[in-house]
Amino acid sequence: MSRITGTTRVAGVIGRPVAHSLSPLIHNAWIDAAGLDAVYLALSPSGDWLGPFINGCRGGLVAGLNVTLPFKTHALELADRASERAWRAGAANLLLFGEDDQIAADNTDGLGLIAAFAAQAPGFDIVGQIVTVLGAGGAARGAAAALVGAGAAVVRLVNRTRERAEQIGEVLGDRIQVFGWDQLPAAFDGAAALINSTSLGLEGGEPLTLSLDGLPAAAVVMDMVYRPLRTPLLIAAAASGHTIVDGLEMLIGQARPSFEALFGQPPPVEVDVRALALAGPGAAA
Ligand code: NAP
Repeated sequence: MSRITGTTRVAGVIGRPVAHSLSPLIHNAWIDAAGLDAVYLALSPSGDWLGPFINGCRGGLVAGLNVTLPFKTHALELADRASERAWRAGAANLLLFGEDDQIAADNTDGLGLIAAFAAQAPGFDIVGQIVTVLGAGGAARGAAAALVGAGAAVVRLVNRTRERAEQIGEVLGDRIQVFGWDQLPAAFDGAAALINSTSLGLEGGEPLTLSLDGLPAAAVVMDMVYRPLRTPLLIAAAASGHTIVDGLEMLIGQARPSFEALFGQPPPVEVDVRALALAGPGAAA
């Protein structure tokens, strides 16, 4: 970043905590390579002040904000209008502040998920397939919406709290099926992909312990958790010969359309942000 001027376009990510976020590293690398007069910051308003904070960004002073945990649902509620995919996901990971004082919500997480599969499992065609998703939180809902939108025949949600998964089915329709953790063999039967969208397996948190027995050998295994990059689920899946897709690729996949919306141009292709994210401070690996 050369310097900040009176015309510097300001964007960022809000979350709590947010210091661990790789988004500033990714977006600022793209800003530098594109030679933009812009900056991308990490900001952490306290939950009570989220509404005033976001409302204070109205009017184009801030171009836009990515939104991460735990603010995605609240951010959607604070917006004046939302894209179809944000409504279906029930969450916003991107707020854009127009010069008309309006706030527009979007959600690029689903695009990130599909892009990650395209990059790391290029032979995988989702159309007509059964996909098993572990979890029924915000990330699972966004994933289920994107998978249904991309043509999956069935999305099986496996969740500890069954009602949460059933609520997603009420919104997204009868291509959603609900399973308990005690029904894993049935949830795995015939699945073309398995996606972990629970917070289990996160570094320093509770582990995700499950057997992949019964998952078809050709099934692609994806983990949204990217700290560590190679989660125990991905290590076990790779050892069993499954193609694997990691959460960092999804993070980068959602960042690309976010950058374009924030700065009005696609990110420069010559920057290897994955290598930067793996090597830089707070690396994903
Ligand atoms: P969330 O709304 O808090 O949902 C958490 C999910 O994990 C729920 O399904 C919850 O089940 C389940 N869970 C938590 N603890 C559990 C336990 N001890 N046993 C069984 N299930 C448990 O969080 P989220 O927004 O969906 O995010 C989930 C994960 O995805 C996070 O690790 C997040 O960082 C990651 N993510 C990654 C990307 C990316 O770009 N790579 C994007 C979005 C999210 P209950 O419903 O029963 O509580």
